[in-house]
Amino acid sequence: MVKLDVEKEERFINMHTRWEHFSEDELRCKGTGEIKMDEPFMKKLVALRKKLNQTMSITSGYRHPAHNSVIGGARNSPHLYGKAVDVACHGKKAYNIIRLAIEMGFTGIGVKQHGPHDKRFIHIDTMEMSEDHPRPWVWSYK
Ligand SMILES: [Zn+2]
Repeated sequence: MVKLDVEKEERFINMHTRWEHFSEDELRCKGTGEIKMDEPFMKKLVALRKKLNQTMSITSGYRHPAHNSVIGGARNSPHLYGKAVDVACHGKKAYNIIRLAIEMGFTGIGVKQHGPHDKRFIHIDTMEMSEDHPRPWVWSYK
């Protein structure tokens, strides 16, 4: 019994040690389980989280190309590079995430703010300008 609790505790700690405020589980690819987040991106994300001073629940982090195809993600999506997250939020929190993302130099902002509150999110990324990625850029989702 005691041993099990210790193992559970260790798993909990491991889950949170890689990046402050974010668990590996919320960042891993939902298809393959891999986590290839870009370190400079994560540093920026942790800094944004500290300024926001509210919990941030990530609904999509790293995506393997195969999984991105399966879910119909954008071609050459920033998620494939580990340079993007989708954050569940709406209303004032969404406003503050967008404001901080712009202030802190995130270059791509995708807005999904219609439909049920629990399905709404803001995508933020740090992609650099390229043919597939005009930057800075704001877009909305259907
Ligand atoms: Zn996204």
